[in-house]
Amino acid sequence: MAPDIHLHADLPFPKSLPEFQRLFPTDTACATYLERIRWEGGFVCPHCHHAEEPFRFAAKPGVLRCRKCRKDVALTGGTVMERTHTPLSVWFWAAYLVASHTAGMSAVQFQRQLGLSRYETAFQILHKLRAGMVRPVADRIGRPQTNDHVEVDETWIGGVTRGEGRGVHNQVLVAAAVEVRQSQPVEGKKSKRGGRYAGRLRLQVMPDRTAKSLVTFVDNVVEPGSMIITDAWGSYNSLKDRGYEHLPVAEAGNSDVAEEFLPIVHLIFSNLKGWLRGCHHGVSPQHLQAYLNEFTFRFNRRFYPFNAFRSLLGIGGEVSAPTYAELYSGMWQHPTASGHG
Ligand SMILES: [Zn+2]
Repeated sequence: MAPDIHLHADLPFPKSLPEFQRLFPTDTACATYLERIRWEGGFVCPHCHHAEEPFRFAAKPGVLRCRKCRKDVALTGGTVMERTHTPLSVWFWAAYLVASHTAGMSAVQFQRQLGLSRYETAFQILHKLRAGMVRPVADRIGRPQTNDHVEVDETWIGGVTRGEGRGVHNQVLVAAAVEVRQSQPVEGKKSKRGGRYAGRLRLQVMPDRTAKSLVTFVDNVVEPGSMIITDAWGSYNSLKDRGYEHLPVAEAGNSDVAEEFLPIVHLIFSNLKGWLRGCHHGVSPQHLQAYLNEFTFRFNRRFYPFNAFRSLLGIGGEVSAPTYAELYSGMWQHPTASGHG
């Protein structure tokens, strides 16, 4: 039986472009997917609300026509694909590439992979898809009244020195807040990091390490009432007064203590730095926040690449993050097992 790509956002994501192309072989297959997402229970005309199988046109799979009012309905309406002449299948392949290539991709590589004759087309598609990733997210993380907590920390990023004398220059301060959850123990299995794993992430460029800056960051991204773990830096002292549970950990240059109490955020910082170094040869400070947002977009959807794919195309069904139940099922931690939750 073919996997039902129309209903499940969490089915295994295709691992190769050929595999992806078997799911979406033609513009008609892509159009069917868009139609099923928009009208789960069958077509309803947005103009006259008439519910009946619409007219279809083999030469124009992206358009349906109402049998009653005879008006056309574009399946790309309200999506990132609206009013472009690029075939649906090219958009779908493009979104697949962007969703699955964690190292990012240049417009030239993109043009080659998609077999596009014009560089400008590749550039425009990539630009539109990335716009969905670099948009900041507004909702706050953290889960008050649970056993979860949030690790908050800052790090310096960059520091490429070119003809500026000795020392480190152009470093940018970045703050992170990440949910830390606890998976249920599996009998006979020793879990990494005591079964702790990352939930949702927020990253932000900071002007400085003052209490004002760091506490404002926490206020903006973490739900009040959440338990927050930080190092003993004094700027975090007022978190308790602002309605958070706060556990400051005396780090004082002791990396073992940091590793024990702030392991997830440190792992994220190290991955983030590797990613920034590896694919962009360093990022200028004024563009760093966009890259942080892109990193966050991928990170928060890493177990649900179909959500990333759909979100990039701007098509419905996107949930901003997996639910607690979904994450707690253990599916992501044991992708080969059937799940034990
Ligand atoms: Zn109609």
